[in-house]
Amino acid sequence: MRPFVLSPLFSSVSGLSSIGPKTTARFQKMGVHRVWDLLQRLPHNIETRTFLSTLKDAPLNEKVTVPLEVVSHSPRSYHHKRHEISCLVDDVPIGLVFFHAYGQHLTEKMPRGLTCLVSGTLEKKGSTYQMVHPDFIGSMAQKETWTGVAPLYSLTAGISQTQYRKIVHHALEGVPALPEWLPEEVMQSYGWASWKDALHQVHKPKHIEDISPTGKGCARLAFDELFAHQVSLHKLRLGVKKKLGQTFSASKKLGPALKKQLGFNLTKGQEEVCALFEKELAAKEPMMRLLQGDVGSGKTVVALLSMMQVIEQGAQAALLAPTEILAEQHGARFEAFLKDLLVRWAVITGKTPAKEKKSIKEKLHQGELDFVVGTHALLESTVSFKKLGYVVIDEQHRFGVNQRKKLIEKGDGVNLLVMSATPIPRSLALTAFGDLDICQLKEKPKGRLPIQTTLLSLARVETLYDHLQKALQKGQKFYWVCPLIEESETLDLGHAEARAAALKNFLGDKVGLLHGRLSSSEKEEVMAGFVAGTYQVLVSTTVIEVGVDVPDATVMIIEHAERFGLAQLHQLRGRVGRGAHPSSCVLLYGNKLSKVGKKRLEMMRETNDGFVIAEADMRLRGPGDILGTKQSGVPDFRMADLEVHGQLLAEAHKWALRIDDKTLETPSYQILLSLFPYLLQMHMES
Ligand code: ADP
Ligand code: MG
Repeated sequence: MRPFVLSPLFSSVSGLSSIGPKTTARFQKMGVHRVWDLLQRLPHNIETRTFLSTLKDAPLNEKVTVPLEVVSHSPRSYHHKRHEISCLVDDVPIGLVFFHAYGQHLTEKMPRGLTCLVSGTLEKKGSTYQMVHPDFIGSMAQKETWTGVAPLYSLTAGISQTQYRKIVHHALEGVPALPEWLPEEVMQSYGWASWKDALHQVHKPKHIEDISPTGKGCARLAFDELFAHQVSLHKLRLGVKKKLGQTFSASKKLGPALKKQLGFNLTKGQEEVCALFEKELAAKEPMMRLLQGDVGSGKTVVALLSMMQVIEQGAQAALLAPTEILAEQHGARFEAFLKDLLVRWAVITGKTPAKEKKSIKEKLHQGELDFVVGTHALLESTVSFKKLGYVVIDEQHRFGVNQRKKLIEKGDGVNLLVMSATPIPRSLALTAFGDLDICQLKEKPKGRLPIQTTLLSLARVETLYDHLQKALQKGQKFYWVCPLIEESETLDLGHAEARAAALKNFLGDKVGLLHGRLSSSEKEEVMAGFVAGTYQVLVSTTVIEVGVDVPDATVMIIEHAERFGLAQLHQLRGRVGRGAHPSSCVLLYGNKLSKVGKKRLEMMRETNDGFVIAEADMRLRGPGDILGTKQSGVPDFRMADLEVHGQLLAEAHKWALRIDDKTLETPSYQILLSLFPYLLQMHMES
């Protein structure tokens, strides 16, 4: 239940004085339904009105407020619809100009000889001053209101700044004082005012800093929003952690045996992550962790090792992969790794024959399989486990929060590891995966050669062909990714087909084509052909699967690279550079490359570090586009901007973690959480 003290904020704007049904409707168009919605829309700028008692040296084309005396009216013909009132400001003439005005009304409102206050933009026509459609005409008593700084809001047609401000002022009058939820230390270190005062600061600005996103008022309000979100995630996590997790002591046999069979030494980073997982699987609280790492950084290997710990203690593990190809690939690789280890496991996908599927399900249910690798098929309600102890989710961003939950709930106190190959900026990770503990694998396994990236204009694409022919003769393989054509799969496909035909013409028939219209078995066949070398060139629309591993592919060509997000380009580039040969990536750009577009591509050339790229991507495109879907778990913040307030987010995260269950139940936190229902919805759904 929403605390009573918040009622004025959550009541309809239509209840404010000076707002009628028409304005209410316009407000709704702007997404403003409740008083709190209104107050969360912060001004984007200010305007300053100067009071002038004389027009001598008056600033032009700026807002001014002047006292004036009405001298005469000169209405034009009805036809011209122009009405001018000649006035004097301290002996200097000025004309007030109105178009489409009702002349008689003006004559009555401003009779000759009247002294009044007028505010508007001062202009000069020839040598005379004029003011077209003044913002205000009224009594001298209003001088205070019409002088100084006022906020500017972005508005829809039909609402004036003046009207909007007035309504905001009414709203501010009803704002209750709330108990402080921010820690004293935070308030002090930033020098912030209370929540209520911050609202006043922002909506009644005195300086431009008062409305700057980094100014004290806005920062405080942004922090509240971020903090509320972090506190809600923290609460969610405390709820899960309160449940007893299944515990598994460190593996003595399987883990060490598997390590020996890997055929390589773990990197230092992998060792650290392994140790961390070992500890968390042994702890009473269920593990809830996100492992971030670039494609090929060795996440899957680490996950497999940690699965051994669970299996050795007689429980089961499940690895959820986003696509069939990936599930199969994991399967193929595990086959080699797990040889002679007597671990019982299976792969289950949409493609698995019904009979086999049934038998796998049966065995999982009976506990006759130690672990299973699978796609969405694993989520089906008919899949059950004897004792599921550990769930690993690969490439999480393709799964919704709900799917994650579905799988975990197939056991009791299940440990969870989510792996993401999309390098996500820390600020995004804290919001999208804020209920998980986060760790990263930064270094790549030794011996990986850096990928050389070049930019090339599409106009010069032919120059590539010779180069490619040489590569083919050496037995190398390459990918050719066709452009993303928005909202048109048909065009996508058409282009890919044309490109494949052109390449065939030049390079012979070792060209395979992969696109979204193929059935999964057809896709599989093409991929298999590429792995086996039947095809040396894989032309593909953007369906190319994340995580697919073809170590002898050495060139990645991306057409119209400027249409892709940086993170996506990075993912695609990660398909090469997995084997012993030096690899390269060619970013082909169209002739409409903008300055920013060029910069983005140059950034790709300069770094191979996914995290650096992710940060840049977020700066350039905004957080929403990086994770793509609404499912991504990043809420729509209203006052906070992750790009501007990243540092505040980290701080909010830190402080949220320090709150214990009991404190969470105190009124100030209940009020805080109730203030931001739109941040919490996502958890309620899940
Ligand atoms: P990710 O899941 O992060 O994409 P993988 O675990 O699939 O990465 O590893 C990518 C490739 O690198 C695999 O072929 C894997 O066997 C290999 N690999 C993993 N760790 C190492 C290592 N420490 N040294 C050498 N090769 C490794
Ligand atoms: Mg992987």
